[in-house]
Order: sequence, then structure tokens, then C-alpha cells
Amino acid sequence: MSTSALTGHCNCGGVRFSLSEVPPRAGYCHCTRCQRRTGAAASAQARIDAATLTIDAGEELLRGWRHPDGGFEKLFCSVCGSHLFSRLPEDPAQMGVRLGVIDGDPQVRPSFRQFTADAAVWEPIPEDGLERHPGPAR
Ligand SMILES: [Zn+2]
Ligand SMILES: [Zn+2]
Repeated sequence: MSTSALTGHCNCGGVRFSLSEVPPRAGYCHCTRCQRRTGAAASAQARIDAATLTIDAGEELLRGWRHPDGGFEKLFCSVCGSHLFSRLPEDPAQMGVRLGVIDGDPQVRPSFRQFTADAAVWEPIPEDGLERHPGPAR
């Protein structure tokens, strides 16, 4: 029996998941796709190894959307619209989890900002000392 480091769920509670390990790294994404997806200036998300993720309920409710130009597929709850994960179809081990859907303290803090070249004009990027990457962070 494994102990979960973290749990999370969507707004309607249909999708529930657990992570066996605390994510190693988190950051803010300022890309235009994240702006549209969230309706906000940036999205806080952690990188995870897909092997650490278990969908405990509602896997059938998850839907994915991928931009025709490629990039990470965005996974969301088809009932309530909460965005939960991202996944790279070419390498499904690489996933992301949105920090806002983790229950309580995610035990990781954003350490970088990526796609700052595409940042929303209506919200200045805070002077918080985090690494900044005009494109994707590596
Ligand atoms: Zn939901
Ligand atoms: Zn993004």
C-alpha cells in the first residue's frame, strides 16, 4: 500500500487524484494558451512524472484538448471545466498538474516564469526574483 504525498480534485469533485511524490519543480506559465484556458494572466503548475500520478476517480470525465500546432495536451473535467493536468503526447511520462487543484499545501513553490515574452499587457510581471524565460523553461 502506497502513501500519497498529495491529493487533489476538480470543482465538482468528479475527478480525484493523488501524487505519490511531491513535484520537483513548479512555475508560472504566461503563454497565450494558458491565458485563454484560465482566463487569467498566468497559470501556476508543477511538473510531474506521470508514474507518480494516480487518478482515483472520474478518469472517464477527463477530456483533452491539444492545439493543432502541438505542445502539451490540456486535460480538464468535462463536467465542471476545471483544468487539472497537461501531458506531452510524444512523451506521456512528462506531465504537469495545476497547483490550484491540489488540496492544501502543494509543498512546492513556483521557481520560474516561462513564456514571459507572451505575458498579458494588462498585468505586470511581479518583481519576485523568480527565473524568467521568454519561451519554455527547460
Ligand atoms: Zn469536475
Ligand atoms: Zn502555458
